Amino acid sequence: MADIPDSHPRKASLMARQSLVEAAAQGLLAESAMIAHGRGEAFDYLLGEKTSGSARIAVREAAARLLQAERPVISLNGNTTVLAGEQSIRAAAILGCPVEVNIYYRTPERMDKLISALEDIRVIVASSGAPAGWKGPEWSDSVNAVEILGGDADGRIEGLEGPRAICSSRGIEIADAVLVPLEDGDRCEALVALGKQVLVIDLNPLSRTARMAHVTIVDEVTRAMTELCIALTEDLKVSDWDNNQSLRDALAIMAEASELI
Ligand code: ATP
Ligand code: MG
Repeated sequence: MADIPDSHPRKASLMARQSLVEAAAQGLLAESAMIAHGRGEAFDYLLGEKTSGSARIAVREAAARLLQAERPVISLNGNTTVLAGEQSIRAAAILGCPVEVNIYYRTPERMDKLISALEDIRVIVASSGAPAGWKGPEWSDSVNAVEILGGDADGRIEGLEGPRAICSSRGIEIADAVLVPLEDGDRCEALVALGKQVLVIDLNPLSRTARMAHVTIVDEVTRAMTELCIALTEDLKVSDWDNNQSLRDALAIMAEASELI
């Protein structure tokens, strides 16, 4: 990774790929993880690989809803753990909520590896600086208090069948708001049907996930989660949110990419 020069115009993208390649070699990812990432990359190219103004507004709306929730939870799959594990633990520490490893292709080995990867990340985040404007208790205490759920597998997402329904009874099952970066469409739909606030990050504005969620942040997960950590320290109010308008804004930016030629 160190040999990609800073001046390379697509350094962030190449580094993300490299992180995923290494994580796959360590057995953290499902075989389809690269395909999902590739689909995301294509949309990100059309966005100019930067966070749009519209995505930034969606981040603030998602932050407001997470702050207002009584029992928020951040759901993490393999790709999100690798690409934004650090930001996810930071966000959970700010919110005082758990994170939950929740993967589509569940195997005990992958669950164990992702949970221990997040435990290592938690140690790093605990010794890093508190967010600007942090007014809570000692930052390291807040980070160490972040529970990493998922291993217990004692809850169910009603409306789904088989291993995909498994969740934690103390996390997603009882949550009133779920941040699910990179979620699959039918699990997103099931969470919405259960009456939970569903906030997603998905580069594809046309995916079922993007269209089902209450708030969709159309942005790359590392960038979006970094922005979210900043927004969570601000004083925000939940608004009447028109998610379809936000999706149309993202599609309009992608359509404008044709003007580059
Ligand atoms: P759905 O089931 O919601 O219709 P899908 O089947 O197209 O969507 P999945 O394979 O279930 O998609 O999940 C991958 C999704 O995650 C894709 O929509 C892709 O655009 C998005 N994605 C992949 N990598 C990233 C990333 N780094 N940041 C944000 N979104 C991403
Ligand atoms: Mg899908």
